[in-house]
Amino acid sequence: TAAHLAAMAGARDLNAFIVETPEIAAAQAAAADAALARGEARPLAGIPLGIKDLFCTEGVQTTAGSKILQGFVPQYESTVSGKLLADGAVMLGKLNMDEFAMGSSNETSAYGKVISPWKARNSNRELVPGGSSGGSAAAVAARIAAGATGTDTGGSIRQPASFVGIAGIKPTYGRCSRWGVVAFASSLDQAGPMARTVEDCALLLTSMCGYDPKDSTSLNVAVPDFTAGLTGDLRGKRIGVPREYRLDGIDATIAALWDQGLEWLKAAGATIVDVSLPHTRYALPVYYIIAPAEASSNLARYDGVRYGLRVTPPGGNLADMYSATRAAGFGAEVQRRIMIGTYVLSAGFYDAYYTQAQKVRTLIAQDFEKAWDVCDLLLTPTAPSAAFAFGDKADPLAMYLNDVFTVPASLAGLPAMSVPAGLSADGLPLGLQIIGRPLDEAGVLDAGL
Ligand code: GLN
Repeated sequence: TAAHLAAMAGARDLNAFIVETPEIAAAQAAAADAALARGEARPLAGIPLGIKDLFCTEGVQTTAGSKILQGFVPQYESTVSGKLLADGAVMLGKLNMDEFAMGSSNETSAYGKVISPWKARNSNRELVPGGSSGGSAAAVAARIAAGATGTDTGGSIRQPASFVGIAGIKPTYGRCSRWGVVAFASSLDQAGPMARTVEDCALLLTSMCGYDPKDSTSLNVAVPDFTAGLTGDLRGKRIGVPREYRLDGIDATIAALWDQGLEWLKAAGATIVDVSLPHTRYALPVYYIIAPAEASSNLARYDGVRYGLRVTPPGGNLADMYSATRAAGFGAEVQRRIMIGTYVLSAGFYDAYYTQAQKVRTLIAQDFEKAWDVCDLLLTPTAPSAAFAFGDKADPLAMYLNDVFTVPASLAGLPAMSVPAGLSADGLPLGLQIIGRPLDEAGVLDAGL
């Protein structure tokens, strides 16, 4: 813990943390040592972790990367962070992130962008760490934290993991409790671990998962010890290659890496099969209807009364206070999502957009169900590019396109992981994505090993 605290203090230029909690970390580390001395074996005793600022932490400011929650100190601990701490983990601090987890580059945080510890070989420009779990990605890649919590609504664990060369897994929807996790799009949000290796992800995931009666969508199923299933032996496994993911104009290095990944899986005993997921091209538009729709509803609670920031215009009434607070408290991307979400849910457009998107979401999920008849896992790239430089995707649509490979598994609620697989032409990390059947995190992790 002392070494990690020193690393945290020495790497403040990355802006990975919104709040550092060295005193809490030291106390937790001492408690972990004392427990060890008493002979109590806890699976994560003394392991220093960063907690994404979307997880409510008792007594420690939780902002979700937003100005509107500045100064909000929860009186309770999220189920997932509580489980990690109960297993002996140590909290280094709260990790920076895109505001309300909306973004793919960490540029939407109200607390400043997170800078990737990586630099391209031929350029000195600062690179994005990915998003929205960019603080988590940077802290793990820079060796500040041994692991971190992330959340993934449409790729926010997998894409940043890919951008900084670490592993990150989004489990099946319902595996990790959403209780105490600030809501973005509730039918998609899932917590998961980010760490340097697949083994570390397996260890953290085992601790994070589990039924929670406080989350109505929590799955009441047994949680295996995910570390016990890691064999690296893929004999008898069929790996599907979804042909619709081989987009026109796909980056040649990424296409080559994908082929290389298939070779590795073959060498481990797997067979490769061609599969079709015909509704893939609708996943991005469907996601960018459903996620903002749910966000506009979830974010209605930030009214200046219940949490954080309040702006009272002189002479104004209650409605003026609401508008002034929300105008000052939400950043541009969050306001854009609220507007889109409100629009697609409005009486005149609900059927044309929201209902339609829900139907296509079902078709996308059915594509995967059919694929599982012929394969056990799918291998795809995680993102269409390596990390880009700040400002390079100023157009929101260009930014949304970065999520093209990650949103389908989110819409279908499937477990999916990004594993580091190689480097781009200018020496930046690239990840491959493994998608599995519902509840087959063990299979996903094993293939990633
Ligand atoms: N980049 C996607 C978005 O902006 C995904 C974010 C996430 O998974 N939290 O919505």
